[in-house]
Amino acid sequence: MGTIIKGKAVADSITESVIADVKELKVAGTTPKLAIVRVGADPSDLAYERGALKRMDKCGINVEVFELQKDISQKDFIESLKRINEDGGIHGILVFRPMPGHLDEEAIKYVISPEKDVDSFSPVNVAKVTEGDETGFPPATPTAVMEMLKFYGVDLKGKHAVVVGRSMVVGKPVSMLLLKENATVTICHSRTKELPEMCRRADVLIAAVGRAKMIDCSYVKEGAVVVDVGINMDEDGNMCGDVDFESCKDTASMITPVPAGVGSVTTSVLAKHVVKACKLQTAPKI
Ligand code: NAP
Repeated sequence: MGTIIKGKAVADSITESVIADVKELKVAGTTPKLAIVRVGADPSDLAYERGALKRMDKCGINVEVFELQKDISQKDFIESLKRINEDGGIHGILVFRPMPGHLDEEAIKYVISPEKDVDSFSPVNVAKVTEGDETGFPPATPTAVMEMLKFYGVDLKGKHAVVVGRSMVVGKPVSMLLLKENATVTICHSRTKELPEMCRRADVLIAAVGRAKMIDCSYVKEGAVVVDVGINMDEDGNMCGDVDFESCKDTASMITPVPAGVGSVTTSVLAKHVVKACKLQTAPKI
């Protein structure tokens, strides 16, 4: 059986270094602060928010939650976001997405200040991820994948990484981050032909599909590292990933579980990004 690589140790290690950084910033007179911008009260947003609040508290990061009315107009939303952008006491902004359909995300993404955009909503940060510019902020989940691979010593140089999924939140950015680490990257999606065969070529297989247990052992090469980003519910109402864990665990050399895998690292990454944003904003300008 392959090694089950869990997220908690990774999250703890990131949290520890964030706590040390926050202490230093406080000594220098600044407390990092995150603004959470939420429209309405979607249960999955609230669940993530609770986790984020707990993690920020542990790290010593202040948080202000801006709960905006479900029917807020585009104009009012943009005005609120601009006020948050201009608030010098706020260093990071997380806007929950997807936003309600009447709000135009395509316009709003240009409003968020790129320096405070800790979850890669702004096209400036999307471009920086593509350019490999480390002053940017990749989204939390793909960064969590990379943190997992780094923590467990997976050397990506020259390895073939296959990513199943090409969304802006997971598939595309994680592909760019893998490429930056010198992996050879193949991106698959719903129109990919011979998907199991493609996946069997992977030394590192990243599943970000959104289909419960779709990836079984027929997709996995013996000894591959399998990272499951998926969060789904199975037929019994239990949380499961995109990977059929039971089917793949003996073929993979390392495999992430769901729950307790990648998902448990994301709020630590968010905290790390808030501290990074704070440092960049408070560093003396030459
Ligand atoms: P998404 O926007 O729905 O994208 C899914 C991707 O999978 C698309 O690119 C789609 O291809 C591809 N796909 C769908 N069915 C396929 C099939 N049968 N064969 C091959 N490719 C297929 O989802 P997402 O936001 O990227 O999220 C992916 C998964 O990660 C979900 O389970 C989500 O809940 C989870 N997630 C987890 C976290 C976390 O913190 N762990 C964070 C975000 C998301 P097309 O582009 O061709 O449609």
